[in-house]
Amino acid sequence: MTTSVMWFRRDVRLGDNPAIHDARDAGPDGVVPLFVLDDRLWGSGASTRTAYLSRLLQDFADRIGSLHVVHGDPVEEVVRVARQAGASSVHIAADFAPYGARRDARVETALAKHDIALVRTGSPYAVAPGRVTKDDGTGYRVFTPFFNGWKEHGWRGPAPEVGDIPWLRPDGRTHRIPAAAIPHGLTLPPLGEDAALERWQSFLADDVADYAETRDLPGPDRTSRMSVHLKWGTIHPRTLLADLAPLRSRGAEAYARELAFREFYADVLHQRPDSAFGYYNTAFEQMEYDEPGEALEAWKAGSTGIPVVDAGMRQLMGEGWIHNRVRMIVASFLVKDLHIEWQHGARHFLDLLVDADLASNQHGWQWVAGSGTDASPYFRIFNPMTQGKKFDPDGQYVRRWVPELADVDAKHIHEPWTLEQPPAGYPAPIVDHAEERRESLRRYDAIK
Ligand code: FAD
Repeated sequence: MTTSVMWFRRDVRLGDNPAIHDARDAGPDGVVPLFVLDDRLWGSGASTRTAYLSRLLQDFADRIGSLHVVHGDPVEEVVRVARQAGASSVHIAADFAPYGARRDARVETALAKHDIALVRTGSPYAVAPGRVTKDDGTGYRVFTPFFNGWKEHGWRGPAPEVGDIPWLRPDGRTHRIPAAAIPHGLTLPPLGEDAALERWQSFLADDVADYAETRDLPGPDRTSRMSVHLKWGTIHPRTLLADLAPLRSRGAEAYARELAFREFYADVLHQRPDSAFGYYNTAFEQMEYDEPGEALEAWKAGSTGIPVVDAGMRQLMGEGWIHNRVRMIVASFLVKDLHIEWQHGARHFLDLLVDADLASNQHGWQWVAGSGTDASPYFRIFNPMTQGKKFDPDGQYVRRWVPELADVDAKHIHEPWTLEQPPAGYPAPIVDHAEERRESLRRYDAIK
């Protein structure tokens, strides 16, 4: 029997998955479809991640007819399953995030002791981190030249249909996919490969043409919502880029540019793994910050009294997702109005977002905080009221998430405290933006 193992991680799909082709070629008599519930990622207790992942794995298991789910340390479990199946190779899509890359190196060494190869085919990106470099071989620190290099590098087309695969389920210790409760108040988005393709097709049909104009407007809510599918690999960016290529519209170009942002941040994190929780620009380590306390709790609860900030934080609790423009606004408010270090906000996002992605999240936060790549200059401080009026002019977004303000007219919705009778039940602002802006600039001047 010639068998192999296909170890799924962030590539829970059959379509456009070149690692499965290699696994099938290496295992014509059987391929074990493996998923390891690693405590480091699975954790304990109800979380957005466990709720989503348990349902996603069930969907995938139903789709392929079986999924070998084991729980434990991947170094032990992958070796055990591969040996039990008599496999000569284990196939993966390469992981470039700091923990995943270290884990894979350890698994590779452990497998090698039994003459089993760890074969990396592809990655969650169109162009793998580390491939787009400057002439001197070093990575980019600024997006636009990276973007040009990325386009020049190019990427492969989608992998062909894989056809029938002789999935194999070895006997022995296997765990059922554990059920995981959905955190209170959260509604999960549709999940799985079919849902990803369906959503993508509807975005292509209805929204991509106007994407450049509408992507900043949280009210109409017309972005693709592909982030959760890209996070778990229920769709691959290659598939998206192949569909965008013939469109040649401004919207399609703007969309490809956003996909490149995702790849840029993965590349930057690969260059600088310390930037996951440390400052990319270390000068900001010296900045004076406030201890997180009640203000952080008010921010998390969506009760700061600033409507667009509260709407965003309530969307996070309700959907596990926030519109990109609003992510920037709520992040800026935490760092520059409440003077709390970005890592507190970033951790909260990682806990609650369905699309939580270490590279995009940490570098999205660092960009807002002023310490990241291409950072928005620190002194450019988002005014949440002005942002609200500009990007949610009729208050559609705020009304959707802050029912206390449902009856406030468009003129006052972003500053309800200016009404003669502010709506009952909605808090007054916890800070004065103009004052905190001055305070932020004072702290910045001290480290310049
Ligand atoms: P669309 O507008 O339809 O964009 C298409 C795709 O392009 C997205 O799915 C995403 O993969 C990519 N993309 C778009 N904008 C960005 C961006 N600014 N940076 C990187 N990639 C981008 N994105 C995540 O996937 N996971 C995160 O944990 C995450 N955290 C963020 C935290 C902060 C503070 C900020 C400012 C941004 C963060 N982003 C994150 C980026 C962005 O907000 C989301 O990718 C986007 O809102 C997802 O919705 P969508 O798929 O409808 O986006």
